[in-house]
Amino acid sequence: MSWPADLFPSRSASDIFYALRVVEKEIPYVPPVPQPKTEQIVRKRAPVTEEYVATPLPKIIIVGASIGGLLLAIILEQQGIPYRIFERAKVCEPIESAVFFNAQTAKVFTQLGLNNEIVAAGLKTNCLQIYNEDRVLTHFFDYSLAPQMYGSAGFVLPKPVLYNILLSHVPSAKIIRGTKILSVSSGDSFVTVLQDNGDTAVCDIVVGADGTYSAVRQSIFDQMRKHDVMDPKDKEPMKYSTVCLIGQTRPLSDVEFPIMAKDDCQFIRVLGRNKPYSLTYFTTKQRTITWSITEYLDNNSHDENNPFRTSDWGQATVDLMCEKVKDIPIVAGGYHHATVGYLVELTDRTKIKKVVMEEKVFSKWYYNRTVLLGNACHRLSPSAGSGATNSVLDAVSLANWIVSLPAFSLLEDISYAFQSYQEERVPWVKDSMKSSNFFKKMLAGNFKGKVLRTVSKYGAKPMMRKMMARMGQNQPQLWFMDTIPDRGIMKTAYQNSLHEPPSRVEARRKKVLEEIANGSVGTVSAVAVIV
Ligand SMILES: Cc1cc2nc3c(=O)[nH]c(=O)nc-3n(C[C@H](O)[C@H](O)[C@H](O)COP(=O)(O)OP(=O)(O)OC[C@H]3O[C@@H](n4cnc5c(N)ncnc54)[C@H](O)[C@@H]3O)c2cc1C
Repeated sequence: MSWPADLFPSRSASDIFYALRVVEKEIPYVPPVPQPKTEQIVRKRAPVTEEYVATPLPKIIIVGASIGGLLLAIILEQQGIPYRIFERAKVCEPIESAVFFNAQTAKVFTQLGLNNEIVAAGLKTNCLQIYNEDRVLTHFFDYSLAPQMYGSAGFVLPKPVLYNILLSHVPSAKIIRGTKILSVSSGDSFVTVLQDNGDTAVCDIVVGADGTYSAVRQSIFDQMRKHDVMDPKDKEPMKYSTVCLIGQTRPLSDVEFPIMAKDDCQFIRVLGRNKPYSLTYFTTKQRTITWSITEYLDNNSHDENNPFRTSDWGQATVDLMCEKVKDIPIVAGGYHHATVGYLVELTDRTKIKKVVMEEKVFSKWYYNRTVLLGNACHRLSPSAGSGATNSVLDAVSLANWIVSLPAFSLLEDISYAFQSYQEERVPWVKDSMKSSNFFKKMLAGNFKGKVLRTVSKYGAKPMMRKMMARMGQNQPQLWFMDTIPDRGIMKTAYQNSLHEPPSRVEARRKKVLEEIANGSVGTVSAVAVIV
């Protein structure tokens, strides 16, 4: 593989002072001499040019080209910050699930110029309808007032459609496909990334957006364990209490599926009677139905569904689960008394996936120059549909801090940025975890689920309103782009990464200008002004 041209070979204090003089054109550029420590790890080195050494911007490697990684890449691209994405899949085939977005992401999508495209590909959703196995509507959660309250409606689109939109905004040359990252070694002054072909790459910051079984997370946890700084909670295994069967039908006509005729997204759940299953499905603008069947695990099924065995789950396991759930009734509209078997018939079998749904919010999201994002640092049950939203919101907060980093950032600058990012995001992610756990328990076919359903039937409206109000307040934005005003009547929550990073940048700029005025320039920070 040829090396991405702008990956940085090493970063030491002497390089930084050298770079400063190159920038000032005092001396000709000579590539740095390899340091003994890195020689052991770095088998090949990226070609270095004067330009790369000269830029004071951090060079970033993102591991994982899914929702979180791609959104961060779009932001870095628009800001001209050098980055590369390493993605293990040669061709990305995102799982055929639906993705739900609402006011939480509307402002940042607008800032990035993505909102119209994403909204146009989605269908507005006004309510969640819950049916029992007799096709009787038992619960109705109405959120049609969301635009007046929070400034934006909720909408749903298939994940592959969202994925293609995000992908179209990232230059393909910047995504290195078919390359699995095996480990990262995060030092004080640079990070080394080891690829499965034996090559290494070096950069200033690594972002692990590589999902639930993140290799980046495993590497930094190993380093923390060695230095005895690992949080004991992070040593505990991830819990998994549900398994999902996921699919998307081919485009359907109103005759085949009469509810397709409705203008808004039909978001429907059917609960199994005395069965550990629930079915969730959405109609889409592409005239397909994205569906998922959740199986709630008991103690016996835990072992059978051990996540380390999911790689063994082939077509036979999928077929077996399809067979088990085929008689669950579905609401297709009109007099159409169909069942899950019908949905399966309308779906390409080879694209149906069976996946384990783990749950955990990790305590430590960064180590030295490496930071985690999305499913790599928090895995939520899909019951409340907030996984993708949280990956997007992580990228926003993290980007706010990355863009504010000083020229040739030192470890202390980076640690402060990552710590602030984690502090901002954890409370919101924990709230999402609470609401997805609530829905998960309510939808389970056991006695507890029945009690929760009965209670929520009477308290459903105030409860839903409270949950929506809390989440709807969180509408993060990027500080370095035009801010979008509130459009709903609810006031949005304070966002530290919208205020603190620009004030730090301004304070730094003032200090450097004062130094220049006093004739005491000569520090690395002056590069920010010179370049
Ligand atoms: C059934 C279902 C329904 C859902 N519904 C919703 C919903 O309605 N709303 C919502 O907001 N969310 C929903 N989600 C969740 C959402 O899809 C995920 O939370 C989201 O995709 C997480 O994105 P991510 O970028 O953090 O990571 P992931 O999507 O997990 O992506 C990780 C990427 O990293 C790559 N990778 C992994 N390891 C390596 C490596 N070592 N080297 C290089 N690349 C690597 C992978 O190939 C992948 O591309 C749902 C999920 C499921 C399963």
